Amino acid sequence: MSATSLATSMVNKLQGKVALITGGASGIGEATAKLFTRYGAKVIIADFQDDRGQALCKELGSTTISYVHCDVTKESDVKNAVDFAVSKHGKLDIMFNNAGITPPLLYTSIFDSEKSHFEKVFDVNVYGAFLGAKHAARVMVPAKSGSIIFTASVATVIGLEAPPAYTCSKHAVVGLSNHMCMELGKDGIRVNCISPFLVQTPMIDGALGSAVDKNKAAEWLATAANLKGVTLKAHHIAEAAAFLGSDESKYVSGLNLVVDGGYSKVNPL
Ligand code: NAD
Repeated sequence: MSATSLATSMVNKLQGKVALITGGASGIGEATAKLFTRYGAKVIIADFQDDRGQALCKELGSTTISYVHCDVTKESDVKNAVDFAVSKHGKLDIMFNNAGITPPLLYTSIFDSEKSHFEKVFDVNVYGAFLGAKHAARVMVPAKSGSIIFTASVATVIGLEAPPAYTCSKHAVVGLSNHMCMELGKDGIRVNCISPFLVQTPMIDGALGSAVDKNKAAEWLATAANLKGVTLKAHHIAEAAAFLGSDESKYVSGLNLVVDGGYSKVNPL
């Protein structure tokens, strides 16, 4: 392959693909929507922050990106989002189950944790991801092709002082991904997770709360990082999602792709 055609194939690596991104109005999902659009995919952002999602579509000004209201905890919304993708573009190639929440980082002790934290977080992070994956599979199985991706967390591979409800929810997501990888391989469907290290997004800012100096937190992140000279940003996670969604990863399934600059090797479980 010549240098020019290699560069073109990298730019167009998602050309012809249809991708649905839950939680696509903010943070990692937003960065992914932007990158997927740039890589040639037709993108549907599914979120419940309607103003933000619609503004993002307008900002990108592309006819290949659209927004659908979807609360991932509601099965009818998730089913509708998947059906919207298929009716608009004729198929669904990539399902990025990315919507997620965390309790405030105040609740990192088991003694401060409440059942209600678990219920709230599991509703979005686990049941929401399950519904997204199930409805994506519903349309991907007859097509005998598709890539389902979950956003898990580095908390699935290291000890992290995160709220127990959050850590448990992300372990559940990895379990679901492993199950679906085994069940759907015979149908040509790949299922993978991405496990990011901490990335500054509205979720992390909200979890830190107003009492915490965000600059100090960013400083801590930079100090804690193993890989010096690179600050982890949402678009680095988006690149991992693009790889897992593209044909570059055609034989990759059942992976928990850790994007942490090697932090988990320095600080293993
Ligand atoms: P974010 O808050 O910027 O984005 C999350 C998005 O999910 C928002 O647009 C929000 O509206 C949407 N969302 C929340 N609940 C929803 C629901 N019920 N229905 C539909 N959409 C809903 O946060 P982020 O950091 O970009 O998080 C994205 C994913 O990455 C989450 O699953 C999170 O757990 C995971 N993650 C984040 C980090 C990090 O450090 N930021 C690290 C590891 C994993």
